[in-house]
Amino acid sequence: MAAAVSPFSGVLQLTDLDDFIGPSQDCIKPIKVDKKAGKAAAKIRIEDDGSYFQVSEDGESQKLEKAKITLNDCLACSGCITSAESVLITQQSHEELYKVLNTNKNAGSASQKLVVVSVSPQCRASLAARYKLAPLDTAKKLTAFFKRLGVHFVFDTTFSRNFSLLESQREFVRRFRRRAEEERALPMLAAACPGWICYAEKTHGSFIIPHVSTAKSPQQVMGSLVKGCFAERQNLTPDQIYHVAVMPCYDKKLEASRPDFFIQEHQTREVDCVITTGEVVKLLDQEGVSLVDMEPAPLDGMFSSPSEERLLGHAGGGSGGYLEHIFKHAAMELFGIQVGHVEYKPLRNKDFQEVTLEKEGEVVLRFALAYGFRNIQNLVQKLKRGKSPYHYVEVMACPSGCLNGGGQLRADGEASKDLLQQVERLYDLAEAEKPEANQDVRAVYEEWLGGPESEQARQALHTQYHPVEKANAASMNIKW
Ligand code: SF4
Repeated sequence: MAAAVSPFSGVLQLTDLDDFIGPSQDCIKPIKVDKKAGKAAAKIRIEDDGSYFQVSEDGESQKLEKAKITLNDCLACSGCITSAESVLITQQSHEELYKVLNTNKNAGSASQKLVVVSVSPQCRASLAARYKLAPLDTAKKLTAFFKRLGVHFVFDTTFSRNFSLLESQREFVRRFRRRAEEERALPMLAAACPGWICYAEKTHGSFIIPHVSTAKSPQQVMGSLVKGCFAERQNLTPDQIYHVAVMPCYDKKLEASRPDFFIQEHQTREVDCVITTGEVVKLLDQEGVSLVDMEPAPLDGMFSSPSEERLLGHAGGGSGGYLEHIFKHAAMELFGIQVGHVEYKPLRNKDFQEVTLEKEGEVVLRFALAYGFRNIQNLVQKLKRGKSPYHYVEVMACPSGCLNGGGQLRADGEASKDLLQQVERLYDLAEAEKPEANQDVRAVYEEWLGGPESEQARQALHTQYHPVEKANAASMNIKW
């Protein structure tokens, strides 16, 4: 149990904290609280017509303005999105995918959209565990299922993660070399988790943002590739492609809806729709099919057919392996040390671990991974006090990282731990590949991006963050 503060009411409440960035019921049931008295000072009455009245203790009632909330206002607390406020995400749901596929069926070929689905390896592992399939089988059957629905191409975001990892590696080395001149160059904080980014922007904006890596997440790199390079190869404009990402959490829907990922020139998003692993199961149920019964289909590659017999992955855990890749690259690039095996040292708990590199008896690199809200809070507090000893931190909002994302398939009680272990095991079966060794990745850098240091590479593979104005945050009485 741990204390959590509702962003809307300021009331301190005890929640059974599973260490996700915790939502509050107050998000959907706002009651003002007199903090000194510790009791509700006003209640909300809902009329039959849906209008809200605030009723004070002496019985006076006042009609409240209707709140307009968009995805971008959300604090990424997950809870409201997973339950009552699902109306917020109508543009990002499996129903929306159905609509597009149906429109395609009824449209002439000239006005059809090319539908591309990019599946994350975390979702694939979760589905493999649910249906008791091998990951490769799962990938092939999933491809067959999406194609049966009318999808044209099914890709794997492991491919785009190569770019996220490579860009993060280079950015770290640049920042390390600049650390004497630039106060906030280090620690560099990972940027692939939109739950963490949303928290950072809305609660510690201008202080934290300079520390956050600008490398895009695999989802958004995939968006750049599909709507850019792949569209060009198909002789299509970005808006002629409908791009769906299958992701392990609802926060990825928020990420896709960020204005930074909207292509103004073509009035389209890099990723049009995000569906979770759970929503894939809903699609299967709606179609009345089990993944087990699907005839496997050959896998699609964005530029070449992947090997039929193996799935590629990356070393370093279920959240993408950012720490491990950056650590090994930096050890070689900055200190000429080849690191084979990375030794993790658990600190407070398994979600807070440390990795160090020593040279001549001195620690020259100190990295950490910090998963879950409690560890993130501790990290931020240390940073603010100038007491963080780290050069890099892989920050992820979910306890246990992305394999345990809020959109993954669940089991009840004790069985949930077993299920997570099984998902981790299945995820690890993919053959680890070094991003720099992938021929297609090299080809994209050379042929489409004009090299890793080019302006086009910067635009396609990096993004920016925006601190939320203090006034806005204060008006919501946010206290973290
Ligand atoms: Fe999504 Fe959780 Fe992974 Fe963050 S850590 S990207 S919220 S699954």
